Amino acid sequence: MINILNSIIINTTTLLPKSIVQLFAGKYVAGENHKTALNVVKSLNENGFSATIDILGEHVVNENEAEKITTEYIDLFDEIAENKLDCNISIKPSHIGLDLGEGVFLSNLKLLVKRAEYHDNFLRIDMESSSATDITIKAYREMLQTSTTVGTVFQAYLFRTLDDIKNIQNDQLNFRLCKGIYKESEDISIQDRKHINENYLKILRYAFTAENYVGIATHDIDLLKEIYSLIDELNVSPSRFEFQILYGVPMSGWLEKHLENKFKVRIYVPFGPDWYEYSIRRLKENPNIAAYVIKNLFR
Ligand SMILES: Cc1cc2nc3c(=O)[nH]c(=O)nc-3n(C[C@H](O)[C@H](O)[C@H](O)COP(=O)(O)OP(=O)(O)OC[C@H]3O[C@@H](n4cnc5c(N)ncnc54)[C@H](O)[C@@H]3O)c2cc1C
Repeated sequence: MINILNSIIINTTTLLPKSIVQLFAGKYVAGENHKTALNVVKSLNENGFSATIDILGEHVVNENEAEKITTEYIDLFDEIAENKLDCNISIKPSHIGLDLGEGVFLSNLKLLVKRAEYHDNFLRIDMESSSATDITIKAYREMLQTSTTVGTVFQAYLFRTLDDIKNIQNDQLNFRLCKGIYKESEDISIQDRKHINENYLKILRYAFTAENYVGIATHDIDLLKEIYSLIDELNVSPSRFEFQILYGVPMSGWLEKHLENKFKVRIYVPFGPDWYEYSIRRLKENPNIAAYVIKNLFR
Protein backbone atom coordinates (compact mmCIF):
# COMPACT_ATOMS: atom_id res chain seq x y z
CA MET A 1 0.00 0.00 0.00
CA ILE A 2 2.72 2.47 1.00
CA ASN A 3 4.54 1.70 -2.27
CA ILE A 4 1.42 2.56 -4.29
CA LEU A 5 1.05 5.81 -2.33
CA ASN A 6 4.71 6.59 -2.92
CA SER A 7 4.37 6.23 -6.67
CA ILE A 8 1.15 8.30 -6.75
CA ILE A 9 2.88 11.08 -4.85
CA ILE A 10 6.03 10.88 -6.98
CA ASN A 11 3.91 11.32 -10.11
CA THR A 12 2.04 14.30 -8.72
CA THR A 13 4.74 16.16 -6.79
CA THR A 14 4.24 19.34 -8.80
CA LEU A 15 0.67 19.45 -7.44
CA LEU A 16 1.83 19.43 -3.84
CA PRO A 17 1.15 22.67 -1.97
CA LYS A 18 4.32 24.78 -1.83
CA SER A 19 3.94 24.97 1.96
CA ILE A 20 4.36 21.16 2.19
CA VAL A 21 7.40 21.21 -0.06
CA GLN A 22 8.83 24.07 2.00
CA LEU A 23 8.51 22.03 5.20
CA PHE A 24 10.40 19.24 3.51
CA ALA A 25 12.91 21.63 1.90
CA GLY A 26 14.20 22.73 5.31
CA LYS A 27 15.80 19.35 5.68
CA TYR A 28 17.66 19.49 2.35
CA VAL A 29 18.25 23.19 1.72
CA ALA A 30 20.21 25.58 3.95
CA GLY A 31 17.88 28.55 3.59
CA GLU A 32 17.81 31.25 0.95
CA ASN A 33 20.83 33.42 1.71
CA HIS A 34 24.54 33.38 2.61
CA LYS A 35 23.88 33.88 6.31
CA THR A 36 21.58 30.85 6.68
CA ALA A 37 23.86 28.69 4.55
CA LEU A 38 27.06 29.64 6.38
CA ASN A 39 25.32 29.04 9.72
CA VAL A 40 24.53 25.49 8.59
CA VAL A 41 28.15 25.03 7.49
CA LYS A 42 29.38 26.32 10.86
CA SER A 43 27.25 23.83 12.73
CA LEU A 44 28.34 20.98 10.44
CA ASN A 45 31.98 21.95 11.06
CA GLU A 46 31.36 21.94 14.81
CA ASN A 47 30.13 18.37 14.46
CA GLY A 48 33.23 17.21 12.61
CA PHE A 49 32.05 17.55 8.99
CA SER A 50 33.57 19.48 6.11
CA ALA A 51 31.20 21.12 3.65
CA THR A 52 30.84 22.25 0.09
CA ILE A 53 28.35 24.95 -0.70
CA ASP A 54 26.22 25.41 -3.82
CA ILE A 55 23.88 28.19 -4.88
CA LEU A 56 20.80 26.44 -6.25
CA GLY A 57 20.03 27.10 -9.89
CA GLU A 58 21.34 26.34 -13.35
CA HIS A 59 21.05 27.40 -17.01
CA VAL A 60 21.28 31.18 -16.73
CA VAL A 61 19.97 32.93 -19.84
CA ASN A 62 22.17 36.01 -20.14
CA GLU A 63 25.71 37.16 -19.35
CA ASN A 64 24.59 39.53 -16.58
CA GLU A 65 23.05 36.67 -14.66
CA ALA A 66 26.16 34.52 -15.14
CA GLU A 67 28.32 37.39 -13.89
CA LYS A 68 26.02 37.99 -10.93
CA ILE A 69 26.25 34.34 -9.85
CA THR A 70 30.03 34.37 -10.33
CA THR A 71 30.33 37.48 -8.14
CA GLU A 72 28.13 35.85 -5.53
CA TYR A 73 30.45 32.83 -5.46
CA ILE A 74 33.48 35.12 -5.14
CA ASP A 75 31.82 36.79 -2.14
CA LEU A 76 31.15 33.36 -0.67
CA PHE A 77 34.83 32.41 -0.94
CA ASP A 78 35.63 35.64 0.96
CA GLU A 79 32.99 34.99 3.64
CA ILE A 80 34.14 31.38 4.12
CA ALA A 81 37.68 32.67 4.71
CA GLU A 82 36.54 35.48 7.05
CA ASN A 83 34.57 32.98 9.13
CA LYS A 84 37.38 30.38 8.99
CA LEU A 85 34.98 27.68 7.81
CA ASP A 86 36.00 24.27 6.52
CA CYS A 87 34.04 24.62 3.31
CA ASN A 88 34.74 24.73 -0.41
CA ILE A 89 32.45 25.60 -3.31
CA SER A 90 30.67 23.51 -5.96
CA ILE A 91 29.37 25.18 -9.11
CA LYS A 92 27.29 24.03 -12.06
CA PRO A 93 28.85 25.04 -15.42
CA SER A 94 25.48 26.18 -16.80
CA HIS A 95 24.99 28.40 -13.74
CA ILE A 96 28.05 30.48 -14.64
CA GLY A 97 27.21 30.71 -18.33
CA LEU A 98 28.00 27.46 -20.18
CA ASP A 99 24.83 27.73 -22.30
CA LEU A 100 25.93 31.21 -23.42
CA GLY A 101 29.17 29.93 -24.91
CA GLU A 102 32.52 28.47 -23.94
CA GLY A 103 34.08 31.94 -23.64
CA VAL A 104 31.62 33.16 -20.98
CA PHE A 105 31.92 29.92 -19.03
CA LEU A 106 35.72 29.89 -19.12
CA SER A 107 36.19 33.50 -18.13
CA ASN A 108 33.86 33.12 -15.12
CA LEU A 109 35.48 29.81 -14.21
CA LYS A 110 38.94 31.40 -14.25
CA LEU A 111 37.77 34.12 -11.85
CA LEU A 112 36.49 31.49 -9.45
CA VAL A 113 39.58 29.30 -9.63
CA LYS A 114 41.72 32.40 -8.96
CA ARG A 115 39.60 33.29 -5.90
CA ALA A 116 39.87 29.72 -4.63
CA GLU A 117 43.64 29.94 -5.05
CA TYR A 118 43.80 33.32 -3.33
CA HIS A 119 42.16 31.85 -0.22
CA ASP A 120 43.90 28.49 -0.53
CA ASN A 121 40.43 27.00 -0.92
CA PHE A 122 38.99 24.72 -3.62
CA LEU A 123 36.47 24.86 -6.46
CA ARG A 124 34.55 21.78 -7.59
CA ILE A 125 33.04 21.86 -11.09
CA ASP A 126 29.89 19.72 -10.88
CA MET A 127 29.05 17.53 -13.86
CA GLU A 128 25.75 18.18 -15.63
CA SER A 129 24.12 16.18 -18.42
CA SER A 130 26.11 14.44 -21.19
CA SER A 131 25.83 17.44 -23.52
CA ALA A 132 28.20 19.22 -21.11
CA THR A 133 30.68 16.40 -20.43
CA ASP A 134 33.28 17.24 -23.09
CA ILE A 135 33.40 20.95 -22.39
CA THR A 136 33.47 20.45 -18.62
CA ILE A 137 36.41 18.04 -18.85
CA LYS A 138 38.21 20.34 -21.31
CA ALA A 139 37.76 23.33 -18.99
CA TYR A 140 38.92 21.30 -16.00
CA ARG A 141 42.06 20.17 -17.85
CA GLU A 142 42.81 23.74 -18.81
CA MET A 143 42.46 24.93 -15.20
CA LEU A 144 44.61 22.03 -13.98
CA GLN A 145 47.57 23.28 -16.00
CA THR A 146 48.01 26.23 -13.67
CA SER A 147 46.06 25.38 -10.54
CA THR A 148 45.72 22.65 -7.96
CA THR A 149 42.69 24.22 -6.27
CA VAL A 150 40.17 22.84 -8.72
CA GLY A 151 38.44 19.51 -9.27
CA THR A 152 35.52 18.09 -11.19
CA VAL A 153 33.00 15.26 -11.05
CA PHE A 154 32.76 11.97 -12.95
CA GLN A 155 29.62 9.86 -13.30
CA ALA A 156 29.82 6.08 -12.97
CA TYR A 157 26.77 5.52 -15.20
CA LEU A 158 28.54 6.80 -18.35
CA PHE A 159 30.40 4.21 -20.41
CA ARG A 160 33.10 6.76 -21.21
CA THR A 161 34.05 7.68 -17.65
CA LEU A 162 36.97 5.34 -16.95
CA ASP A 163 38.63 6.36 -20.24
CA ASP A 164 38.02 10.02 -19.46
CA ILE A 165 39.84 9.61 -16.17
CA LYS A 166 42.69 7.62 -17.69
CA ASN A 167 43.11 10.30 -20.37
CA ILE A 168 43.84 12.99 -17.81
CA GLN A 169 47.51 12.50 -17.05
CA ASN A 170 47.97 14.67 -14.01
CA ASP A 171 49.04 13.74 -10.51
CA GLN A 172 46.81 16.47 -9.08
CA LEU A 173 43.67 14.79 -10.43
CA ASN A 174 40.90 15.39 -7.91
CA PHE A 175 37.37 14.29 -8.67
CA ARG A 176 34.09 13.49 -7.06
CA LEU A 177 32.71 10.13 -8.15
CA CYS A 178 28.92 9.86 -8.25
CA LYS A 179 26.49 7.57 -10.06
CA GLY A 180 25.01 10.38 -12.18
CA ILE A 181 21.62 12.00 -11.83
CA TYR A 182 20.54 12.98 -15.36
CA LYS A 183 18.41 10.85 -17.65
CA GLU A 184 20.85 9.54 -20.27
CA SER A 185 20.22 7.20 -23.20
CA GLU A 186 21.24 3.55 -23.19
CA ASP A 187 23.69 4.25 -26.05
CA ILE A 188 25.96 6.09 -23.67
CA SER A 189 25.04 5.01 -20.17
CA ILE A 190 24.51 1.99 -17.96
CA GLN A 191 20.84 1.75 -17.01
CA ASP A 192 20.60 -0.68 -14.11
CA ARG A 193 21.73 -0.06 -10.56
CA LYS A 194 23.75 -3.29 -10.17
CA HIS A 195 25.93 -2.55 -13.19
CA ILE A 196 26.30 1.13 -12.30
CA ASN A 197 27.59 0.03 -8.89
CA GLU A 198 30.03 -2.41 -10.52
CA ASN A 199 31.36 0.35 -12.73
CA TYR A 200 31.57 2.68 -9.72
CA LEU A 201 33.81 0.17 -7.96
CA LYS A 202 35.91 -0.43 -11.07
CA ILE A 203 36.55 3.31 -11.47
CA LEU A 204 37.28 3.69 -7.78
CA ARG A 205 39.76 0.81 -7.85
CA TYR A 206 41.55 2.46 -10.76
CA ALA A 207 41.56 5.87 -9.02
CA PHE A 208 42.93 4.43 -5.76
CA THR A 209 45.66 2.59 -7.64
CA ALA A 210 46.54 5.72 -9.62
CA GLU A 211 46.60 7.70 -6.34
CA ASN A 212 44.01 10.21 -7.49
CA TYR A 213 42.09 12.11 -4.82
CA VAL A 214 38.44 10.98 -4.82
CA GLY A 215 35.31 12.45 -3.27
CA ILE A 216 33.25 9.29 -2.83
CA ALA A 217 29.71 10.61 -3.27
CA THR A 218 26.97 8.10 -2.60
CA HIS A 219 24.15 7.36 -0.16
CA ASP A 220 24.02 3.72 -1.23
CA ILE A 221 24.79 1.62 1.84
CA ASP A 222 25.40 -1.60 -0.14
CA LEU A 223 27.92 0.26 -2.27
CA LEU A 224 29.53 1.81 0.81
CA LYS A 225 30.11 -1.67 2.27
CA GLU A 226 31.95 -2.67 -0.92
CA ILE A 227 33.91 0.58 -0.86
CA TYR A 228 35.05 -0.12 2.70
CA SER A 229 36.28 -3.57 1.57
CA LEU A 230 38.15 -1.97 -1.33
CA ILE A 231 39.81 0.57 0.97
CA ASP A 232 40.90 -2.32 3.23
CA GLU A 233 42.08 -4.50 0.35
CA LEU A 234 44.19 -1.75 -1.23
CA ASN A 235 45.15 -0.26 2.13
CA VAL A 236 44.25 3.20 0.84
CA SER A 237 45.48 6.13 2.89
CA PRO A 238 42.63 8.32 4.22
CA SER A 239 44.54 11.27 2.75
CA ARG A 240 43.50 10.04 -0.75
CA PHE A 241 39.73 10.28 -0.36
CA GLU A 242 36.74 11.75 1.42
CA PHE A 243 33.10 10.68 1.63
CA GLN A 244 30.48 13.10 0.38
CA ILE A 245 26.71 13.21 0.87
CA LEU A 246 23.91 15.65 0.18
CA TYR A 247 22.75 17.71 3.16
CA GLY A 248 19.79 16.09 4.90
CA VAL A 249 19.91 12.59 3.41
CA PRO A 250 19.70 10.02 6.24
CA MET A 251 22.69 7.64 6.34
CA SER A 252 21.75 5.08 9.04
CA GLY A 253 24.80 5.66 11.22
CA TRP A 254 27.33 5.66 8.37
CA LEU A 255 28.41 9.27 8.87
CA GLU A 256 29.36 8.50 12.45
CA LYS A 257 31.10 5.33 11.27
CA HIS A 258 33.17 7.34 8.75
CA LEU A 259 34.18 9.81 11.46
CA GLU A 260 35.10 7.01 13.90
CA ASN A 261 37.36 5.61 11.18
CA LYS A 262 38.94 9.09 10.88
CA PHE A 263 37.64 9.39 7.32
CA LYS A 264 36.84 12.88 6.09
CA VAL A 265 33.15 13.52 5.38
CA ARG A 266 32.01 16.47 3.29
CA ILE A 267 28.37 17.53 3.19
CA TYR A 268 27.06 19.17 0.02
CA VAL A 269 25.01 22.14 1.23
CA PRO A 270 22.70 23.77 -1.34
CA PHE A 271 20.93 27.04 -0.64
CA GLY A 272 19.23 29.91 -2.43
CA PRO A 273 15.92 31.26 -3.63
CA ASP A 274 15.63 28.47 -6.22
CA TRP A 275 15.00 25.85 -3.53
CA TYR A 276 11.70 24.57 -4.95
CA GLU A 277 12.89 22.49 -7.94
CA TYR A 278 15.77 21.00 -5.95
CA SER A 279 13.44 19.99 -3.12
CA ILE A 280 11.03 18.33 -5.55
CA ARG A 281 13.97 16.28 -6.90
CA ARG A 282 15.06 15.18 -3.39
CA LEU A 283 11.44 14.49 -2.44
CA LYS A 284 11.07 12.11 -5.40
CA GLU A 285 14.18 10.19 -4.32
CA ASN A 286 13.03 9.74 -0.75
CA PRO A 287 11.70 6.21 -0.17
CA ASN A 288 9.56 7.49 2.72
CA ILE A 289 7.88 10.15 0.65
CA ALA A 290 4.30 8.98 1.26
CA ALA A 291 4.67 8.78 5.03
CA TYR A 292 6.34 12.16 5.03
CA VAL A 293 3.72 13.94 2.94
CA ILE A 294 0.80 12.39 4.81
CA LYS A 295 2.29 13.33 8.16
CA ASN A 296 2.72 16.95 7.09
CA LEU A 297 -0.64 17.21 5.34
CA PHE A 298 -2.47 16.34 8.56
CA ARG A 299 -0.31 18.28 10.97
C1 LIG B 1 27.78 15.05 -2.71
C2 LIG B 1 27.07 14.68 -3.98
C3 LIG B 1 27.30 15.41 -5.13
C4 LIG B 1 26.72 15.05 -6.34
N1 LIG B 1 27.06 15.72 -7.49
C5 LIG B 1 26.55 15.30 -8.68
C6 LIG B 1 26.99 15.85 -9.92
O1 LIG B 1 27.84 16.75 -9.98
N2 LIG B 1 26.46 15.35 -11.07
C7 LIG B 1 25.53 14.33 -11.06
O2 LIG B 1 25.11 13.89 -12.14
N3 LIG B 1 25.09 13.81 -9.90
C8 LIG B 1 25.58 14.26 -8.72
N4 LIG B 1 25.14 13.67 -7.55
C9 LIG B 1 23.97 12.76 -7.56
C10 LIG B 1 24.37 11.34 -7.81
O3 LIG B 1 24.83 11.20 -9.13
C11 LIG B 1 23.19 10.38 -7.58
O4 LIG B 1 22.19 10.64 -8.50
C12 LIG B 1 22.59 10.43 -6.19
O5 LIG B 1 23.58 10.59 -5.22
C13 LIG B 1 21.83 9.13 -5.89
O6 LIG B 1 22.71 8.04 -6.02
P1 LIG B 1 23.30 7.23 -4.78
O7 LIG B 1 24.72 6.96 -5.05
O8 LIG B 1 23.05 7.96 -3.54
O9 LIG B 1 22.57 5.84 -4.86
P2 LIG B 1 21.04 5.41 -5.01
O10 LIG B 1 21.10 3.96 -5.31
O11 LIG B 1 20.30 6.30 -5.95
O12 LIG B 1 20.46 5.69 -3.60
C14 LIG B 1 20.95 4.96 -2.48
C15 LIG B 1 19.97 5.02 -1.35
O13 LIG B 1 19.86 6.35 -0.85
C16 LIG B 1 18.50 6.70 -0.80
N5 LIG B 1 18.34 8.11 -1.10
C17 LIG B 1 18.84 8.75 -2.16
N6 LIG B 1 18.44 10.05 -2.11
C18 LIG B 1 17.66 10.17 -1.00
C19 LIG B 1 16.92 11.22 -0.39
N7 LIG B 1 16.87 12.42 -0.95
N8 LIG B 1 16.27 11.01 0.77
C20 LIG B 1 16.29 9.81 1.34
N9 LIG B 1 16.96 8.75 0.82
C21 LIG B 1 17.61 8.94 -0.34
C22 LIG B 1 17.82 5.87 -1.88
O14 LIG B 1 16.44 5.71 -1.63
C23 LIG B 1 18.55 4.58 -1.77
O15 LIG B 1 18.03 3.75 -0.80
C24 LIG B 1 25.77 13.99 -6.35
C25 LIG B 1 25.54 13.26 -5.19
C26 LIG B 1 26.17 13.57 -4.02
C27 LIG B 1 25.94 12.73 -2.81
